[in-house]
Amino acid sequence: MNAHPYEPPETQSQHLFDRARAVTPGGVNSPVRAFGAVGGTPRFIASGEGAYLTDVDGNRYVDMVCSWGPLILGHNHPAVLEAALKALHHGTSYGAPSAGEVELAEEMVARIAPLEQVRLVSSGTEATMSAIRLARGFTGRTKIVKFAGCYHGHVDSLLAAAGSGVATFALPDTPGVTGAQAADTIVLPYNDTEGVKAAFEAHGAEIACLITEAAAGNMGVVPPQPGFNQFLADICRENGALFISDEVMTGFRASREGMYGIDGVVPDLMTFGKVMGGGFPAAAFGGRADVMQHLAPVGPVYQAGTLSGNPVATAAGLATLRHCTPDVYSHLDTTAHQIADLASEALAKEGVPHTVQFAGTMFSVFFTGRPVKNYEDAKTQDTKAYAEFFHTMLNHGVYLPPSAYEAWFVSAAHDAAAVETIAEALPHAAKAAAAAEKSH
Ligand code: PLP
Repeated sequence: MNAHPYEPPETQSQHLFDRARAVTPGGVNSPVRAFGAVGGTPRFIASGEGAYLTDVDGNRYVDMVCSWGPLILGHNHPAVLEAALKALHHGTSYGAPSAGEVELAEEMVARIAPLEQVRLVSSGTEATMSAIRLARGFTGRTKIVKFAGCYHGHVDSLLAAAGSGVATFALPDTPGVTGAQAADTIVLPYNDTEGVKAAFEAHGAEIACLITEAAAGNMGVVPPQPGFNQFLADICRENGALFISDEVMTGFRASREGMYGIDGVVPDLMTFGKVMGGGFPAAAFGGRADVMQHLAPVGPVYQAGTLSGNPVATAAGLATLRHCTPDVYSHLDTTAHQIADLASEALAKEGVPHTVQFAGTMFSVFFTGRPVKNYEDAKTQDTKAYAEFFHTMLNHGVYLPPSAYEAWFVSAAHDAAAVETIAEALPHAAKAAAAAEKSH
């Protein structure tokens, strides 16, 4: 059922997908995993090792998703595994404070200057949701500003789409979000200072916070234009709103200090996830101590979690951060550029319009010829060409993100052999993309 023409019939992945769909909506526990944007059957994974995934049919792939960012050291890194196993032997969850939480918080605070205090949570969604509640509690204001194409998890008020004009209130982006929840959100085009100015002119005194991805990664990688993040920090400060920099994807990934390490813009609050959990559910929000002091139990803004600061997750996260040495970041940088150059060469050779964009060591390949500054630009992609490109790469042993709107992730384990596999697959995939382009 739904098999892509390139897929062999009767695979274990197909059987598992059929079983999964009977008991789980769409057969997956997070929508993008269902391959909806590229068609075909999601590969059910049996194991991960270094730069590779192996599926239940025994196919091996160079993994360019890395669990959507967390696995910066690759799958099953020995130090992370050892730390997690050691923690496991001491119990799985205490519901009481433990040393690992302090050590992870200290490591983060030591690295990122604007991060004076952090609170650990279990997912990026929880981090952004809590940061927004805190911003509202701190300022006593209700409205929030976000950008179209920036994703901050599935927080109700952030699942909102732009209204009909700049500085108008948003509409729910999904059933289940009420008009009232969306109406307190203002959605603006990314990288557009005029739109932000207009929104603050119209509603400045009501805006609790502005949240942005430190560099957009969820519409493909769209770096902020030079000065854009500083402009956002300044306009928030002038209007008494808090500036929230969402570093869930970029944190400890774009550079050792995330996007903060690249542009140096000081936010009031920051959110983290992915890399800091080392492949386990750990995330965080933090920032100015005077703002964080408004959180319970010291302040009035309630926030809590049964598994927050879980000892296994914090041990894995800490081991991951400690092994993210300058050498790791320089390897990520070199490897990301190598792969991006190879992809660009292969696509150019076949005449496939594309644009490669970076934010630190994060990058993506857009299937459009125009530079991508915002979501409207990203939507000019030829997603049919990407689908053929994706499946051909998969057939040649490379697991790319199953959507054209995603970053490509590398890890410290992506070595010359992994790059070689990608280099061999790319010409075939570029040809398939070119053929798909011509056919519609
Ligand atoms: N913020 C950003 C920038 C993200 O990329 C994501 C997830 O992709 C989230 C928040 C939500 O994180 P989680 O999926 O852990 O809830």
